[in-house]
This record gives sequence, structure tokens and C-alpha cells, in this order.
Amino acid sequence: MNSTPRPSLSTFERLESEVRSYIRSFPVVFQTARGAVLTDERGNDYIDFFAGAGALNYGHNPPELKQALLAYLEADGITHSLDMATAAKRRFMERFEAVVLRPRGLDHRLLFPGPTGTNAVEAALKLARKATGRTGVISFTNGFHGMTLGSLALTGNQGKREGAGTPLEHVSVAPFDGYHGPEVDTVALLERLLTDPSSGLDLPAAFVVETVQAEGGVNVASSRWLQDLAALARRHDIQLVVDDIQVGCGRTGRFFSFEDAGIVPDIVCLSKSLSGYGLPMSLVLVRPELDVFEPGEHNGTFRGHMPAFVTATAALAHWEDGSLTEKVEADGAFVARRLGELARRLGAEVRGRGLIQGLVLQDPEQAEQITREAFLRGLVIETAGPRGEVVKLLPPLVIERAQLARGLDLLEAAVDVVIHGHIGPIPTAAGRPEVSA
Ligand code: PLP
Repeated sequence: MNSTPRPSLSTFERLESEVRSYIRSFPVVFQTARGAVLTDERGNDYIDFFAGAGALNYGHNPPELKQALLAYLEADGITHSLDMATAAKRRFMERFEAVVLRPRGLDHRLLFPGPTGTNAVEAALKLARKATGRTGVISFTNGFHGMTLGSLALTGNQGKREGAGTPLEHVSVAPFDGYHGPEVDTVALLERLLTDPSSGLDLPAAFVVETVQAEGGVNVASSRWLQDLAALARRHDIQLVVDDIQVGCGRTGRFFSFEDAGIVPDIVCLSKSLSGYGLPMSLVLVRPELDVFEPGEHNGTFRGHMPAFVTATAALAHWEDGSLTEKVEADGAFVARRLGELARRLGAEVRGRGLIQGLVLQDPEQAEQITREAFLRGLVIETAGPRGEVVKLLPPLVIERAQLARGLDLLEAAVDVVIHGHIGPIPTAAGRPEVSA
């Protein structure tokens, strides 16, 4: 990587902590965005195949959400209320019940934790432990659940775990679907451990699982595996927590990623695209029997950011019929087809569901080169996986087909460059960044 400071980035390099992350992959200053397109301060457009790591399923600044937000602010609607009752919060809860819960036969209660994904996971952990009186929790290889101590203990990635500076405790790791190859039934392995009185594994409070491990490399659990896991949880009175923070809100087609498997988790964590506008908001859905916190026992100042409730309510309009689900499934199949062609040329594999798709390379260096070359051509796209070997495609769900095709063209051009061994600066299209930082 070329470390020559770029003038526009010097403020960040001078003042911001070394921990800064995505700025290093996309070293320009972004200024505006609309739909699936980001624009930097020099006027260059980028197609967004990253979508705020899943926080922008409805695209940047979706007009109908923006109108609702502007109207609310203009009318001096409440912005902050701790968890006092507001009209905006009531409207969200009523709409969520009518559009999401009731049609799916769910009677879960709504627990609003702090506004980030990791806040939702921490609340889920506390609830499962309190409800069962057990401490241990089982997470799965390559899982990612957040960066605070409880959620980090559930997270596989060594590099992230090393940042903890303290032992990460009370979590045992079980193999995810396919971890030992397609032949090995990892739920059966887990059941053996749970039923063998000498296995050394105590009965846990919960299983915490992603149906598609996004950060972990686009690892897709089969419906069968999820059904078996849910049945195992039921047999042993273990709470099933589905972390739908990245792949919920329609990313895999239906609103919840676990719907296709026909399972009903005890606890569901939602965040990222819940507000629909990139505003921080989280929600934990809890089976009524698990709603065990005393009043105020899990408190927090920012457990009700009303502008997020307003945009989240407007976003629910997408789920009143099946049209977005159909679009995601059709676009997902289109992306998988195009990626399949690329994969054949690269000796790579394609994995995914709906509009989370991964191009899985042998060599992490190649994946990094592809995303870098793609960015130079105007595509924002990131890597995932244990060694960053997966190019992860996560476009907004509302992306137009022509933009999707254009983004895939840019990715293909980046792959061509990497295959032919030419890495580095490209002949600049008008105004594109000449070097990477
Ligand atoms: N859980 C999953 C599945 C995630 O993908 C993420 C973030 O990427 C989190 C939890 C943590 O969310 P946040 O970064 O908002 O704390």
C-alpha cells in the first residue's frame, strides 16, 4: 500500500485514532449519497456494494424516509426521551406488530437496548443468563457479534478478540454448519457434547447464531441445520438467540433471515437497517417468558432515539407486501450467476443468500487486490472471512438492476486486472483517485 498522505485525508491522519478502519480501504472524503451511489468531495461517484455493512438496506437517504424525518423535525417532534412514552415510539411499535410480528404469528415483546448492534447482543446475553440461571453460552466458529466484552466473547476473529485486553469468558465455541465439511453433522456433534455427562461442557443458557455469517465470510447455514439447532435447543431448554443484525431486515429476502427455515427463535437481535436511514437503533425481540428484567434493570440513556423510530416506521412500508422479497431473491440470483462466471475464471467459490453474496478466493491477498482495484474503478466493496479471503457483496436491497450490473462490471474489471497480474495505479478515468492510501 502506498502510504503517501493525501491532502484531503490529512486531518483524519493527524487527529483521528489509529483504530480507524474503513477509511483505509476507501481513502477519499465522501460528501453526499443517494440510493446506491456515494459521491466524494471531488465529485466522483461510487456504486456502493457495502451499504454501511448492512445498515443501508434501503439505500442512502431514501426519499420517503427522508420526508418522514424532515416532517417530524419540522414539527418539533421529540428527539430524545430516554424510554418515556412518545407518539413516535408508539407508532413504530404498533406498525411493527401489524407488519412484522402478527403476520408471522410471533408474540415476542420488544426490548429496546442502546442503539448499536452490540448493545442488542449484550442485552440478549443478559436476558438468557438471567432467565435460565446459567452462565455459559455457545457461539459458533467464525461468528461475529460485536466488539464489547460480552459480544466479543462470542466472536471468533482472533484479531478482534486480541483488542479485549482481558479474558473473554463463559463462551464455548461449537462448529458452524459445514465447518468440518459437508459430510459432518455439527449439530449432532454438539448434541453428543451436551448429552455426554463427561464431555466437560456445562448446559449453556443460550446458543447465539447468525443464519448467514456475514463478517465470518458469508457462511450460509442450511435450513435443515437451523431446524436441527432449534430442535436441540428446545430439547435441552437452551435459549436460541438469532443475531439478525446484519442479515435481517430483508437482506436474504424475507424480513427475518430465519423465516425460510421455519424456526422461531427465543430471542432475535436486530439493528443496522432497522431504522432504514443509517440512524442508530436496535431492538431485541423476546419471547414473553424470557422478559425477565425488573423495571430499569437494563437501562441506558439512548434507548429511544425518536428520529430513528420515525424512519423505521416509514421503512416498514417495504414489508406490507412481498415485492421487496421478490426483488431481493431475483437480484440475488442475478448476482450469484454473474459471480459464478467470475469464480470459474479465478478458481474461486460463490456463497450467499439473497443480496449477501461472497466470492471466496484461495488467497486473501487476491481478495484485497480485487477490492482495491474495484474501488479505483468506482466500486465500494469489502472483504470478509477469517483471513479476508472473501469479497463480500452487500448492495442496498433497492439498488436498480442497471446499477447492480454496472457494479458487477467494475468488479469484473478489477478481477481481470488481478488475474493478469497488473496491480496498482490505473489509467485514471476522469477524477478517480490515482493511488490508494
Ligand atoms: N452482530 C452482527 C451479526 C454484526 O454483523 C455486527 C456488526 O457488523 C454486530 C453484531 C455489531 O453491531 P454494531 O457494530 O452496531 O455494534
